[in-house]
Amino acid sequence: MDKALQNNYEKVKQRIEEACNKYRSSSDCVQLLAVSKTKPIEMVNTIAELGQKHFGENYVQEALEKIDQRPDLIWHFIGPIQSNKTRPIAENFNWVHSVDRLKIAQRLNDQRPDDKGKLNILLEVNISQQATKSGFSANELSDALKQIATMDNLQVRGLMAIPQPSSDFNQQRQTFAAMQQLLVDLQQEFPELQLDTLSMGMSGDLEAAIAEGATIVRIGTDIFGARDYSK
Ligand SMILES: *Cc1c(COP(=O)(O)O)cnc(C)c1O
Repeated sequence: MDKALQNNYEKVKQRIEEACNKYRSSSDCVQLLAVSKTKPIEMVNTIAELGQKHFGENYVQEALEKIDQRPDLIWHFIGPIQSNKTRPIAENFNWVHSVDRLKIAQRLNDQRPDDKGKLNILLEVNISQQATKSGFSANELSDALKQIATMDNLQVRGLMAIPQPSSDFNQQRQTFAAMQQLLVDLQQEFPELQLDTLSMGMSGDLEAAIAEGATIVRIGTDIFGARDYSK
């Protein structure tokens, strides 16, 4: 057993528990998504052994190799989606957090195999309004949901965001609070949909995200260590 990895994982679990106790009514208020991109399957196996079920991946080919070895785990696609890569995503994942345009939703719907059940999706919101970032703008969400609600092989579950990084806790909270408000507005507009998910918060800002109602936090670095893209 990799002791350092185990230790990192327990520390993240503890941070989550503390934030849940401080800001929410229950100590178990959010789901931890372990972001294993660029990391070997042995590390996935180690924390799976500690009880971790949900894993996030950004690169299709890398992810398929891991899913092939651990089909028992629950796999979330969280990376940018090229339209020519939607088929393996639709066929192999349980969740997609990074649906950033209608065309991608339509392709995932068309390519989802019938025997896999509905694909859970989140709409990515460009909450910091960065010109270089993908995602729906806040005022596009309502129309997008109307269309996606008609797609039978998708279950739209809520929203996801990757805000512009900030080291200021209050700034982090403000941005996440805006996300929570968007979800509440959509829940009121679409009571027939199962909009129960807010995917936000990473290693550097998970406390602020939990304070503002995150239901999934996506943690890579603080569990698995820094990523090395040089290999
Ligand atoms: C890589 C990644 C993460 C994990 O970020 P860390 O800062 O390493 O915790 C979370 N969400 C998305 C969308 C990512 O691409």
